Amino acid sequence: MSLACVIHAAHDLRVEEETARALGPHDVLLRLGAGGICGSDLHYFKEGRVGAFVVREPLVPGHEASGVVEAVGSEVTRVQRGQKVAINPSHPCGRCDYCRAGRGNLCRHMFFLGSASVFPHAQGMFRERFVMGERQLTPIHEPEITLGEIACAEPLSIGLHALHRAGPVLGETVLVTGGGTIGCMTVLAARLAGAAQVICCDINDRALSIARTVGADRTVRSDQVNAAQLADIADVSIEAAGSPAALATCLTATRRGGRIVQVGTLPPEVAFPANSLMARELDYRGAFRAHLEFDWAVQAIRTRRVDVRPLISAQLPLARSQEAFELALDKSRSTKVQLVAEA
Ligand SMILES: [Zn+2]
Ligand SMILES: [Zn+2]
Repeated sequence: MSLACVIHAAHDLRVEEETARALGPHDVLLRLGAGGICGSDLHYFKEGRVGAFVVREPLVPGHEASGVVEAVGSEVTRVQRGQKVAINPSHPCGRCDYCRAGRGNLCRHMFFLGSASVFPHAQGMFRERFVMGERQLTPIHEPEITLGEIACAEPLSIGLHALHRAGPVLGETVLVTGGGTIGCMTVLAARLAGAAQVICCDINDRALSIARTVGADRTVRSDQVNAAQLADIADVSIEAAGSPAALATCLTATRRGGRIVQVGTLPPEVAFPANSLMARELDYRGAFRAHLEFDWAVQAIRTRRVDVRPLISAQLPLARSQEAFELALDKSRSTKVQLVAEA
């Protein structure tokens, strides 16, 4: 028996005992290494839904996890018992037109772990033990790379995908709105991509101090400056806060002919000054989840080309899931809170 964190409805989170299913030939039994609590997990916890995805049956959240291999199916070749692994939560179908065109993150039949986007729900990884197909796994051989860092591969992949969507930024100034986990991952990705200057803005001092730690050259309290002070400061702006005010900042801050990438989830209705896109020839692009960038993220973390350690603010055992979710909700105290299996 092992423990699982299960959301039954808004503010109804339970820690339950369960037994992992039997292994098929290409399956791997994993013990949770670390599982990061993400904004979408917090929405399920607080509201019982993320946008249109509503919890209709008990849901185990969690899509940012690492693991340790406990047992392998008869045909498994990618990993071995005892290895640390990165886990890609994204299961595109591989058959639809988007998958065939190499854009698996836009798959028509996506199965993404820890999500109520499908029914029955895609059960996630906030559990002490779970079974995963070997093709989702990448072994990490470096002894010094921690399970907590490996679990950051998924959120880093979101930052890398945002930069991928932005196009080349070599020598450019990139503004990132939002200094939470995704904002900071985007700062890291912008540096990797060769941006000459990375500016991060937020309304929280703690977030900005972490953004500086991971390499933002300049940080701005966006609630303490006026719009004119931010005008035309960036070639590319990446909206990673999910707030209409942050989007407005991006529209002001981006120079004529520049690009804006939307990564954060905005409220359903947002007033949008579309004429400023027209008159200033701005490109406004979306970035949704990630695809090839997951493997790039794993590579960047395993070599510490990117150091995600400053983002991990706490690790709590699964039995204390409720407390971990409450802590993750409090942005004045935490960036990335992770759940771990009991020692
Ligand atoms: Zn996430
Ligand atoms: Zn597909």
